[in-house]
Amino acid sequence: MIRGVLFDLDETLLDRTRSLNRFLHGQYARFQAAFQHVAPETFEQRFCELDQRGYVHKSQVYSTLLTEWKINGLTTEQLLADYRTSFSDHVEGNACWHAVLIELRKRGYQIGIITNGETAFQMANMRTMGMHSLVDHILISEQEQVRKPDPMLFQRGAQRLALSEEECLFVGDHPYNDIQGARQVGMKTAWFQNGLDWPAELARADVEIDKLADLLSMLDQPSW
Ligand SMILES: [Mg+2]
Repeated sequence: MIRGVLFDLDETLLDRTRSLNRFLHGQYARFQAAFQHVAPETFEQRFCELDQRGYVHKSQVYSTLLTEWKINGLTTEQLLADYRTSFSDHVEGNACWHAVLIELRKRGYQIGIITNGETAFQMANMRTMGMHSLVDHILISEQEQVRKPDPMLFQRGAQRLALSEEECLFVGDHPYNDIQGARQVGMKTAWFQNGLDWPAELARADVEIDKLADLLSMLDQPSW
């Protein structure tokens, strides 16, 4: 029986693509003097290519951009500092994230978030949205010193909720880091599709959803 729901953050509860686009729009404007010879669309498009959906560190992304566009008078550190301080001003959740968390609480589920990333950065994003106050526990890889898909992080998530792994449902968008990681410790899994294809070589998640609200009807079923 499922008694707790653990969520991934980026591209699951948080609409990272949309948040990133909004942030990049603002960052381009803040540093426009240095990017005069780069069109705003080019800035956003090239950033997203290099960023690989968030899996490449931003110091590497900015360093490459500055080199490619031969920009002097602006440093990787300046752009990275701006990313760290301003991104959270632009965050948006995926549709119904708030209503889903409220309803899960009402139904008595323990709720947690397990995310890879820097602690201060991810906490700022969740605080802006008021998300931190709607969940019981938050595990961030930097603070926990272990990253998804390491089984230890998933096991720790279940421990924090005071549940067994089998009593937890993990909801995430990444086939390996989220679904495979959670499954290997015995959690039930829900893949939030988010427009990606499932890798052919990997066993599929227990359920697949394309909107967070689907979780509510799914958890209603007696088989869960
Ligand atoms: Mg994710």
